[in-house]
Amino acid sequence: MPRPPLPRPEALPARFSDPALARVGEKVAAGERLSFDDGLALFRTPDLLGLGGLANAVREARHGNLGYYNVNRYLNPTNLCWVDCGLCAWARKPGVEGGYTMAIREAVAEAAAGWHDGITEIHVVGGLHPTLPYDYYTGLLRALRERFPGVHLKAWTMVELDWIARVGRKELVETILDLKAAGMDSCPGGGAEIFARRVRDIVCTNKIDGERWLEAARLCHVNGVQTNVTMLYGHFETDEERVDHLVRIRELQDETGGFLGFIPLAFHPEGTPFAHLPASSGLLDLKVIAAARLLLDNLDHVKAYWVQIGEKFAPVALHFGADDLVGTVTEETITHAAGAKTEAGLGRLEMERLIRSAGREPFERDAFYERVVRDPSGRVLRANRHDFVPGTAASGAPAAQEAPPLPLHPGLDTVVASS
Ligand code: SF4
Repeated sequence: MPRPPLPRPEALPARFSDPALARVGEKVAAGERLSFDDGLALFRTPDLLGLGGLANAVREARHGNLGYYNVNRYLNPTNLCWVDCGLCAWARKPGVEGGYTMAIREAVAEAAAGWHDGITEIHVVGGLHPTLPYDYYTGLLRALRERFPGVHLKAWTMVELDWIARVGRKELVETILDLKAAGMDSCPGGGAEIFARRVRDIVCTNKIDGERWLEAARLCHVNGVQTNVTMLYGHFETDEERVDHLVRIRELQDETGGFLGFIPLAFHPEGTPFAHLPASSGLLDLKVIAAARLLLDNLDHVKAYWVQIGEKFAPVALHFGADDLVGTVTEETITHAAGAKTEAGLGRLEMERLIRSAGREPFERDAFYERVVRDPSGRVLRANRHDFVPGTAASGAPAAQEAPPLPLHPGLDTVVASS
């Protein structure tokens, strides 16, 4: 990866109230990589404005005044999951009220709902369903690809990839190649949580360990599938465990260059066994974003997930190192199950308003961070290196009338909603 541009000297904070942060500031100004101990200094500094100013200078050197977002739709084909993570308020065990599983046909119809805003990406994640067959996962991707050609399919976390491989009794690499052939364009970054075993034993003891998560990401990257990466913070982790998590991401990025962006996820305790914990503070939200921007010198994008930190706070994050507010996320349910008070999705113009409120210039990006081209009515003309014909599903047309009929997938279309 080419060396990132150095921050302009005049953009750096003129002074720091914390000598430890001042020393980190000298390294940032010189373009030197930050050490583990520097990472600790970032999390422990009382000089929040100095930290934010430093991260902002680095962010502006990379992205100028742009604030990225995309128009995406979430699709959660099932919330049934056997893993039983303490951190999760969303999943259900089979037989428990509120559980569901969509047949492929239902999932495609769900993805088509609310298509008016010309969605350019579908973000697919779900629970680790105990009985769905391997062909369900490849079949769903094929059906989505068939119905929404040119729409980017960001599907299955590293945790799900590992499970799908186990379901199919296949090697992980073979599974990744099968899913890629079926239409998987990239992967979301969920399930990373905190890589340290001590923390995983508290919040997600049955989930794959940090090493397996990183191995799955490595296999995706070397096989041409880019992924995102997250960190769930604000529960039981220490500063050292946060820095360890970020440094491990940086090491893998040095090796593969396959991470598209980093998304810090604030833990929402409501509805979990840890409901007694306070929600993360705004101070911590900003520190994590700024520290990530400074430590992850080989990742282009640090995102502020407005669903989790709130619409009032997300624009502030665009001045603390973040360059991207993620997406419109139509029908977000996972964080809302844990008490998020934000809307379940925002419109394209509302996202632009949020970014402008921070004094940034909105940039509607596609999956490759290239500009989405729309006509004056908002229909997509070009996205994801694909030219759209007006009136097709991804161009913003009302898909229910104009898109091709739903494909039939015998056998897998008989999976019915379950409770
Ligand atoms: S966090 Fe994921 S793996 Fe864990 S219980 Fe929830 S859906 Fe299942």
